[in-house]
Amino acid sequence: MLGNGFHNNGSLRTSRARALLKGLCPRCRVGKIYQRRLTMFERCPVCDLKFEREQGYFLGAMGVGYVLGLSILAGLIAIWSYAVFPQWPAYKAIMPALVICLPLLPIIGRYARIIWINFDRLMDPADRSG
Ligand SMILES: [Zn+2]
Repeated sequence: MLGNGFHNNGSLRTSRARALLKGLCPRCRVGKIYQRRLTMFERCPVCDLKFEREQGYFLGAMGVGYVLGLSILAGLIAIWSYAVFPQWPAYKAIMPALVICLPLLPIIGRYARIIWINFDRLMDPADRSG
């Protein structure tokens, strides 16, 4: 990025959907939300936006994570019971789907926060962080 809102290739900043997938700040869409796999930055390293607006801010991310996790689990159960073992009843697919889903929990939690921050900033873009 050149500091004038343009990247080196001359394009405008990243689209909102691409920024969401890459885990970038919802305001500048350049700075990363996570510094390591599971460790968040407190503030955006580029525009200094404070990610956790207030105490308990990420409770909303738990709801997002719940919906995301259940969707993945339902998808795995559907794949397992219709494509892998169609002769099995669907309830027998729950355990293998859970076993596959468990290692994904940290990734689901990470994306739940990223989705929550982006959704919240889209709905209320005002910056009240100190
Ligand atoms: Zn930023």
